[in-house]
Amino acid sequence: MNWYELRAHEVEKKTNTNVKAGLSEQEANARLKQFGPNELQEAKRPSALVVFLSQFKDFMVLVLLGATIVSALLGEMVDAVAIIAIVLINGVLGFFQERRAEKSLEALKELTAPQVTALRNGKWIKIPSKGLVIGDVLKFGSGDRIGADVRIVEASSLYIEESALTGESVPVQKKADAIAGSNVGIGDQSNMAFMGTMVTRGSGIGVVVGTGMNTAMGQIANMLQNAEESETPLQIRLEQLGKILIVVALALTALVVLVGVYQGNDLYRMFLAGVSLAVAAIPEGLPAIVTVALSLGVQRMIKKKSIVRKLPAVETLGCASVICSDKTGTMTQNKMMVTHLWAGGDTWQVSGQGYNPSGAFHRGQEQVNPAKVRSLYQLLTFGCLCNNASIVKKKKEYVLDGDPTEGALVAAAMKAGLSREVLAQQFHILKEFPFDSTRKMMSVIVKDSSGKRFVVTKGAPDVLLGISGSILWGDKQQPMSTLYKNEVQSAVNVLGGQALRTIAVAYKPLRDSDTIHNEQEAESNLMFIGLQGMIDPPRPEVKQAVQECREAGIRTIMITGDHKVTAMAIAKQLDILPEGGRVVEGAELMQMSVEDLESIVEETYVFARVSPEHKLKIVKALQNRGHIVAMTGDGVNDAPAIKASDIGVAMGITGTDVAKEASSLILLDDNFATIKAAIQEGRNIYENIRKFIRYLLASNVGEILVMLFAMLLALPLPLVPIQILWVNLVTDGLPAMALGLDSAEEDVMRRKPRHPKEGVFARGLSWKILSRGFLIGFVTLLAFIISYNQNPNELKYAQTVAFATLVLAQLIHVFDCRSEHSIFHRNPFGNMYLVGSVIISILLMLVVIYYEPLQPIFDTMPIQARDWLLIVGLSSIPTFLLVGSLLTGGKDKKKKKPVLQQQANLK
Ligand code: ATP
Repeated sequence: MNWYELRAHEVEKKTNTNVKAGLSEQEANARLKQFGPNELQEAKRPSALVVFLSQFKDFMVLVLLGATIVSALLGEMVDAVAIIAIVLINGVLGFFQERRAEKSLEALKELTAPQVTALRNGKWIKIPSKGLVIGDVLKFGSGDRIGADVRIVEASSLYIEESALTGESVPVQKKADAIAGSNVGIGDQSNMAFMGTMVTRGSGIGVVVGTGMNTAMGQIANMLQNAEESETPLQIRLEQLGKILIVVALALTALVVLVGVYQGNDLYRMFLAGVSLAVAAIPEGLPAIVTVALSLGVQRMIKKKSIVRKLPAVETLGCASVICSDKTGTMTQNKMMVTHLWAGGDTWQVSGQGYNPSGAFHRGQEQVNPAKVRSLYQLLTFGCLCNNASIVKKKKEYVLDGDPTEGALVAAAMKAGLSREVLAQQFHILKEFPFDSTRKMMSVIVKDSSGKRFVVTKGAPDVLLGISGSILWGDKQQPMSTLYKNEVQSAVNVLGGQALRTIAVAYKPLRDSDTIHNEQEAESNLMFIGLQGMIDPPRPEVKQAVQECREAGIRTIMITGDHKVTAMAIAKQLDILPEGGRVVEGAELMQMSVEDLESIVEETYVFARVSPEHKLKIVKALQNRGHIVAMTGDGVNDAPAIKASDIGVAMGITGTDVAKEASSLILLDDNFATIKAAIQEGRNIYENIRKFIRYLLASNVGEILVMLFAMLLALPLPLVPIQILWVNLVTDGLPAMALGLDSAEEDVMRRKPRHPKEGVFARGLSWKILSRGFLIGFVTLLAFIISYNQNPNELKYAQTVAFATLVLAQLIHVFDCRSEHSIFHRNPFGNMYLVGSVIISILLMLVVIYYEPLQPIFDTMPIQARDWLLIVGLSSIPTFLLVGSLLTGGKDKKKKKPVLQQQANLK
């Protein structure tokens, strides 16, 4: 079907819809059932069985299974069954970890799935683009991604970029008129908007004529949707590290086996011990736990109202050193209310509450009737005419539908008895040139009841001043002289100084012969009418968030399209702008090269009157100074800067699809404080990963060393293979997971941002791992030797004592891993998951030791009470010996030679 050939009413008829009311919910649901969701087909995910089986593909697991076969062949059925059981349990755990990680990634995708605005039952509502059906009426504006193939029926300065489909990156203008001809190519179908393309300017309405695979995109899209699943730099580094660790562990294991055999140990026992040791020493679970820690962290972030779109951002978050944030709506509440009006040298105050349309006008002490003051009345009327917002009463409350700046103007007009409905009876809007943040204004062409046409423009005062040829002063039109310009400027400064956002209004009558083709023609030679100043109170939580960021070594920069004076006043209220801090304006910025900007960017705290295009320069200059930059944005023009920054942050509520797609973090509540919370969580996740790496590797070092030392000293095996496997599964696995869920250390936001190239083992971690690991191995061996010497005939007993010491030493050490400082820095019961997993591990250990049926399998004997004293004493040593001693490692050393040490720490 060539939809472009049809006229609007024919499209309506063919798709059985109504452009004014849309589909009914029932009809939409029925069509959805019949034709399926509006989705491109994706590659199938592996089934649960495949994921489960893939757990056993691991090289070490195969080695272990090989060992099982050897045990079985040698008739050691108990060994064989126990190993198989452990391999199975390990596989099941791995399966659940992987599934969990996958599920949360999927949930994340759902959350970031595109939304569209559709007309259903006569109301515009937001629905997931997946739910679109043929006949749905769609509304789209600048920054939206088109959700399905749409025949446009209304277009206002509509430009769409279709590069996803045609490869052509220059946006094409779209119109609603039918096109004749049967062979019009996709690139020329100017009344169609295609799925996946993006609105760069203007707005439009259209009827859905193709969904899912029946769209132009669907036809070329066996290529998948951009479902890239990226690994984080840390995951990649850990994978590399894992490979090195495998080699080291294998080499050490081989050494243990060779020495053991040389010392006369039984070949089969040594073989099995070697395999078990290799399995235990290789942290094969590490990547899975990292993924789980990352994705659980991401879930926590969602609870705190931020969505991480790309996992690597979680790590980068912790490195952020500068946040560049928009002002309006992010630092402020975006609940605007006009409080002051200025026209022709007079100022009026307006009282009121929020968008409630009642309030009184005063000039000084005297109440005035706005209908009686021409300039004031025009200011209010025009502010309301050039406007798309409406205020509706819902359950006794007045709620805004539309942009808050515009809502404030509507509310102010309503206080003078001018509602949009009343105005609509007198005035008819012929054309609109929508607001965009580069032009910083919006205009409409209006026809009044007598058939006269005129232009109304509203926007940033300095911009309107530049294009006004005259001004309304008192009741008269005067040419715009420098004198009047200065008057307006100082009025703007007075309003701005009170942190008010100012919007100017201007007007131009049109003669019958005047034709207006574009916004430049409309927005010229205007008559300046006046100013409306509105409050936009800061969000209460932002000041503290800025302060906390400062303590964390993160600087906050405000970037706003608003006037310099207004921006400065708000920046001061929020403590963003220190004494002597610089404020740079867009016009200045335009003259500067990136290098120029670099030289002043460190002392600049506010960028005012900037266009989104300038943001890229700011990001570049900061990055050149070595900063890791978080940059917020919401519009189409913000996308390049969001993309170029290290952490692109998009607004969840006001953000366009394009900004969201470019971002790595979405703020569900558009709130600056949420960025801080996300950074905090990012830092915490990274610290948690360090915590369990520290725990796992120190444990592994301990396990290898106890065996190695024993072989070197010509002692019998201190641990039997099955015990080693048990330790690997229970003592290592559960608490490590719990560490991944740990809360942040108190001072996590008082540390400087992490250097992005910092290695995992920086800040003394390798020292901690090796020293604690060494001690764990040492005390385990000591426990074994003492017990063995007391009773050389009961090897099994000494082995059980060694086993218990190893387990306890690790379980005590795990509490030390919670802190970068020492075990005494944190309440040991602060992480209940950890306490729970430690208790479970201890109980399981006691079961293995005291439960008779398990004793032959695990080669254990009941330990006598007095020996527990020895075990507990020895197993406490690795954690408590080093507390506060000279051996605390990296932290203390760093103080002495900070620069060198830090550099050495950078991998
Ligand atoms: P931020 O602080 O997030 O940059 P902003 O609202 O100040 O937000 P823009 O939205 O780019 O930045 O607006 C720039 C300027 O354009 C505003 O300071 C205001 O003077 C003017 N403006 C804002 N909204 C409108 C509108 N709907 N119609 C006309 N002019 C507007």
